[in-house]
Amino acid sequence: MQVAKRKSARLSKTQPLLEILHRTYPDAECALHHHNPLQLLVATILSAQCTDERVNLVTPALFRKYRSAAAYAAAPPGELETLIRSTGFFRNKARAIRACCSAIAERHGGQVPDSMADLVTLDGIGRKTASVVLGVAYGRAEGIVVDTHVARLSRRLGLTRQKTPEKIEQSLMQVVPQREWIAFSHLLIWHGRRRCMARNPDCDGCELADLCPRIGVPRK
Ligand code: SF4
Repeated sequence: MQVAKRKSARLSKTQPLLEILHRTYPDAECALHHHNPLQLLVATILSAQCTDERVNLVTPALFRKYRSAAAYAAAPPGELETLIRSTGFFRNKARAIRACCSAIAERHGGQVPDSMADLVTLDGIGRKTASVVLGVAYGRAEGIVVDTHVARLSRRLGLTRQKTPEKIEQSLMQVVPQREWIAFSHLLIWHGRRRCMARNPDCDGCELADLCPRIGVPRK
């Protein structure tokens, strides 16, 4: 009983914050262009250390050329790398795309798996990429996506003191209701881009100012 009460108290702490963010960004969603789970998987791999805008410039040609996991897996050496070069770290990204697509083609009949357990066993796929695919493509909340914005804002808002994405995700899963796990990341990413930037966050104009302890943000 006490445990259930403590859990409910923890979850209700984030409710006002979520309400404001939902009101402020009613259209918050994944910014990576895609039409199916495979395209989203590839776009998410490309988005590491790269802006979504840059990825969206690269993916149309990529998606036209490779239309299945088997096609990515069989991409001739150098061809895939050339197409994704401008997203940075292109050799590692090409390796990850070939590795996971080859496993998808061989072990999953060409379909991107729809469970965390299966996705994280694919070479080249970590928990963050898996959570993006599950949440956005399949509407399944099995984790919380922690990118640089979610990590920064979660600390500033006092939702976690952790530093690594894995630990931040674990602490967020304790304070964010599961039905909000997918939206939570989109909302924080949008707020991080528009208001709570890494440098010079706009605390004076911030919709969350009354709720935010501004941890680690120098007072002006
Ligand atoms: S008040 Fe400042 S630190 Fe807090 S969320 Fe808003 S911009 Fe970020």
